[in-house]
Amino acid sequence: MKLDVETLRYLSKDDFRVLTAVEMGMRNHEIVPTELVDRIACLKHGGTYKVLKNLLKHKLLHHDSSKYDGFRLTYLGYDFLAIKTLVNRGVFTAVGRQIGVGKESDIFEVATEDGTVLAMKLHRLGRTSFRAVKSKRDYLRHRNSYSWLYLSRLAALKEFAFMKALEEHEFPVPKAVDCNRHCVIMSLVQGYSLVQVKQLENPDVVFETIIGLVIRLAEHGLIHCDFNEFNIMIDDNEKVTMIDFPQMVSVSHRNAQMYFDRDMECIFKFFRKRFNLSFHEEKEAIDQSELDKDDSGWPCFSSISKSDGFLDKELAASGFTRKDQNDLEKFVEGKAEQDAGSDEEELVDEGHVSEGQDGANIRSLSFLRLEDQNEQAVVSHDEDERSLQAFVNDA
Ligand code: ADP
Ligand code: MG
Repeated sequence: MKLDVETLRYLSKDDFRVLTAVEMGMRNHEIVPTELVDRIACLKHGGTYKVLKNLLKHKLLHHDSSKYDGFRLTYLGYDFLAIKTLVNRGVFTAVGRQIGVGKESDIFEVATEDGTVLAMKLHRLGRTSFRAVKSKRDYLRHRNSYSWLYLSRLAALKEFAFMKALEEHEFPVPKAVDCNRHCVIMSLVQGYSLVQVKQLENPDVVFETIIGLVIRLAEHGLIHCDFNEFNIMIDDNEKVTMIDFPQMVSVSHRNAQMYFDRDMECIFKFFRKRFNLSFHEEKEAIDQSELDKDDSGWPCFSSISKSDGFLDKELAASGFTRKDQNDLEKFVEGKAEQDAGSDEEELVDEGHVSEGQDGANIRSLSFLRLEDQNEQAVVSHDEDERSLQAFVNDA
């Protein structure tokens, strides 16, 4: 996936105004009727139509005329809206190379005015299999509230909220800097994913640290749910940082035990295989935990009450609510079921250019400075426009 930010430098105020109008329209239209875009954007002398053409050319919008004439944002269009907002806020001034690509996210380096390099994670929920899930699952009937825009925004908000809360509890996580739409800005972690590490000076210490983290999370009422060698970063001093939080759940979740066991097993398996760790070390790490244990001495959550403090109190502070959590969980669970099936359908995203087969996920681009980003879209009359104003100010 390529994020061609070069285009961003040449987009005008009107371009962003129309892009924002399409985004607004997508709150209640999967495809926003062209006429509605024009009504919301309210450019003089039919200006909207010219701008729409330009945005289409740059693959920021997708045109659909199957039911009626209309548009929807592409990921690239959504990326640009988030990036522009964050640049306007002064969070960063330049976008650099891609440093990670996941199934449902892309990670880039960004640089601040003073040259500090941060990490930008763009969430892409529904990049794969979303359409098929959507057509099957009952709860996804109300499509608009479950559109990829909504889900990706929720995933970003959740990740941001968790990162902040975990940092406050002194867990080794990146520093959460800011969040807008589907985009999270965080500190850049030095080092490598554990999966890339072939040798460790002290594998037993690293192992204990990592298992200690899974246990301490559980003691705080949380399970990572994707705790594996891809989501653990390690630096030259063998300091561990955990990343990737959109799928975390509470220990009161009905599948908590399964998720916890899976996280633990992933780590055990990896360390056994790569670093030849023994059962003795595994047992010791568990014995130290203060969690309830079953007859065989394994941590268990059966006695945990269904009201969990951590999620509700601390996360709500960042604007991530219980309803958000439920919506996101439904999607993730639906998708897991879907992934297990065979008829996965790719959601083709016209907004990105494929990377090609050069085997490199990591692109080497020099930082591209994003100039002239201080204009705010200007608005005029009627209700749509008042909300556009509120929306633009809000963003
Ligand atoms: P996904 O949800 O797609 O798995 P991750 O958050 O795990 O996304 O990020 C994917 C990859 O990007 C990671 O394995 C890591 O190599 C890199 N990465 C993510 N966040 C950071 C960060 N803050 N600093 C450095 N590298 C990062
Ligand atoms: Mg990951």
